Amino acid sequence: MEPRNLYEVIRTDYEEKEVFEKAKQYSFDYLDTIGKRDVTPTAESMKELQNFEEELPNQSCSSSEILELLHRYGSENTVMTTGGKYFGFVCGSSLPVSLAAKWLSDVWDQNCGLYVMSPIAAKLEELCERWVVSLLQLPKDTAAGFVSGSSSAIICALTAARNSLLQKQNWDVAGQGLFGAPQIKVVLGEQAHSSVFKALALLGLGKDRVTLVPVDDQGRMLPEKLPALDASTLLIVQAGNVNSGAFDPLDELCEKAEKAGAWVHVDGAFGLWAAASNKYSHLTRGIEKADSWSVDAHKTLNVPYDSGIVLCRDRNALVGAMQASGSYIQYSEHRDGMLYTTEMSRRARSIELWAALKYLGRQGVQELIDMLCENAVYFADRLSECGFTVLNDVVFNQILIKGSSDRSTKQLLTNIQNSGKCWCGGAVWKMEPVIRISVCSWQTTKQDIDECVEVFKACYKES
Ligand SMILES: *Cc1c(COP(=O)(O)O)cnc(C)c1O
Repeated sequence: MEPRNLYEVIRTDYEEKEVFEKAKQYSFDYLDTIGKRDVTPTAESMKELQNFEEELPNQSCSSSEILELLHRYGSENTVMTTGGKYFGFVCGSSLPVSLAAKWLSDVWDQNCGLYVMSPIAAKLEELCERWVVSLLQLPKDTAAGFVSGSSSAIICALTAARNSLLQKQNWDVAGQGLFGAPQIKVVLGEQAHSSVFKALALLGLGKDRVTLVPVDDQGRMLPEKLPALDASTLLIVQAGNVNSGAFDPLDELCEKAEKAGAWVHVDGAFGLWAAASNKYSHLTRGIEKADSWSVDAHKTLNVPYDSGIVLCRDRNALVGAMQASGSYIQYSEHRDGMLYTTEMSRRARSIELWAALKYLGRQGVQELIDMLCENAVYFADRLSECGFTVLNDVVFNQILIKGSSDRSTKQLLTNIQNSGKCWCGGAVWKMEPVIRISVCSWQTTKQDIDECVEVFKACYKES
């Protein structure tokens, strides 16, 4: 047989669609195992990762062989963060409609940098912007950029903040850089998220030259400890402490900043969604007075990774900060997505975000948030009944627990992680090792929680 050239091989894959059928079948097989197999891969299955080990091959490999490899040795070496028994970090699951919309949009393979490259992606970005702003009850003309996650969203927001604060002092930081620039005072809580410090480091604002505001026993900034704010201050507050879930006293902090003419950024990676629920919006009261916000759809909203959103009250501040030009860049009269983000080429993540919002509607978003938070309270109560100490006020979806000693807590965490039956992470809270539980998946049921509590009990030994 005449050896086929590469084009013919690819063309055949493309037209026969067998590889796509395989992907679909394997995906369905995987979906059927969620909730049935362990949350984490076994040591035995991780040995199979060795099957991927080789030098870059010289020869082409068939598509079906590649998909088969992925399914055989890849699927079982995933962590089931999408199931109902994963409580590590803050990881959402994915709503079926969002996942399906992503599949379709993966086939479209749109680049949403410019309107001319994808009118549909631009249209859905426009809608997502309007809907999210309305859902979170932010000022009407707030601009939104669709980025990979909160880390990126915070970088975009703080760039807009930095540029705008220096602009007021007649300094063009985009053009002149920070060498010789006037000072910006950066104020944030002692328990600000690591991604905030990373953004400050990246932006030349310095992660060590900040003023750290002391916090209370839940990790909330103490407003009475706030230093004097002025029009060259960047104040960064938190809607949802990554450990305790606590919200800074946002209303009071935003009010003070507004009076001083400072820029306020709200890191609300998972907690900002509280604003969309009548039951929890008291936690975010006052956020509309801030200047920028960052939030993840891939956490509380259960949209697939990667889906972060940067929001900025002053559209020109964000667009100005993200400006890029080139004779080949064709801007339009419509929404050009790259004006709102650091990236130029981007996948069109607004598609699955739009799908989730349309599917849930205002009411569904609220129900989802309320369900996660109610499950967290239920989980905390059950654990407390079993003798574990719950260390935080469970105001949102995060729980912190400990055993009777540091040693027993650490051992419990190791045993839970090794059990494979559910997964939680650890942290240090007030100098003590603790176990963090983040209830963030639509899949988690009360029965899952009951079963996990049994795992906690079985894994616990007093010492
Ligand atoms: C998760 C998280 C971040 C970082 O978000 P990514 O989407 O992982 O980049 C920032 N702040 C808080 C409070 C978070 O929970």
